Amino acid sequence: MDVSEKAVLMEWFEWQEAPPAEFAVIGDPVSHSLSPRMHGAAFAAMGLPYRYVAVRVPEPEFEAAVARLTGLGYIGLNVTVPLKEEAFRWALNTDELTGRIKAANTLKLENKTATNTDAPGFLDVLEDIGVPPGSSVLLLGAGGAARAAAGAMHRAGYPFSVYNRSRDKAEAMVADLGLSAQVMSAPDPMGFSVIVNATSANLQGALLPVDWDRAMPGATALDLAYAVGPTPFLLAAASAGIHGYDGRGLLAAQGARSLEWWLGIEAPRSAMLKAIE
Ligand code: NDP
Repeated sequence: MDVSEKAVLMEWFEWQEAPPAEFAVIGDPVSHSLSPRMHGAAFAAMGLPYRYVAVRVPEPEFEAAVARLTGLGYIGLNVTVPLKEEAFRWALNTDELTGRIKAANTLKLENKTATNTDAPGFLDVLEDIGVPPGSSVLLLGAGGAARAAAGAMHRAGYPFSVYNRSRDKAEAMVADLGLSAQVMSAPDPMGFSVIVNATSANLQGALLPVDWDRAMPGATALDLAYAVGPTPFLLAAASAGIHGYDGRGLLAAQGARSLEWWLGIEAPRSAMLKAIE
């Protein structure tokens, strides 16, 4: 299969074969990424002639790959698993919140600047689904997405508790980010307005041990992951009558924030969300 054939069928490139373009999402794997479709819809809605592609970059090749894309004239990159920490270390400049989270998902190549739009994007989602600051949140996970959500909620005034399979990682996250959050020994949803899945358990077909029958009536389940159809986390919540949302809202929110950070103009968020629904 040659590169052009692969691009048509799978819509991604190895970094050594990346075509001239203005924007890309990099990660490993990237074949599943909805970002090219979403950003393509945004550029079409904005009447901008930019091209956005998906590029596979194995972690040890991050520096070489980003140097090549810079040389090809790319303006900005989105960064996904497993490169967000590497992206943070690459940057010469970041904002204060990104510095605390120590992971970046959006890069400007010309001046080696990085930011984390998952954090403000997560707050956008809480606002969209009607969860005002002050509402109590149970955050499940202690990886990159959980760090972004925790850093953002801390700043915005959401009281929250954390549960993670590896308790030591949750404790390290709380200490590292200077949070006042309680670390729980079990993911008990009782008393929380929102229960957020920021783990990758879904990806492994694993179900988190949440006893949804203990959730408050009217509580909301928010999964940062998304899939074709409801995720296992949302299905389990629904079986106890708990309504939920998947991660496409965050994908659109963080993508819109990235676009605005690169271009300095408002992004068409509803067109972006529509493109991935
Ligand atoms: P990381 O690899 O950094 O963290 C993974 C987390 O999941 C850790 O807390 C880990 O726990 C936990 N975990 C993994 N497997 C299991 C399991 N079987 N049971 C319980 N816990 C488990 O991943 P990210 O933080 O980058 O991503 C987390 C999720 O968020 C992914 O599904 C990702 O797709 C999604 N995401 C979605 C975005 C969007 O735009 N919608 C943006 C960013 C992330 P432990 O410490 O014990 O290993």
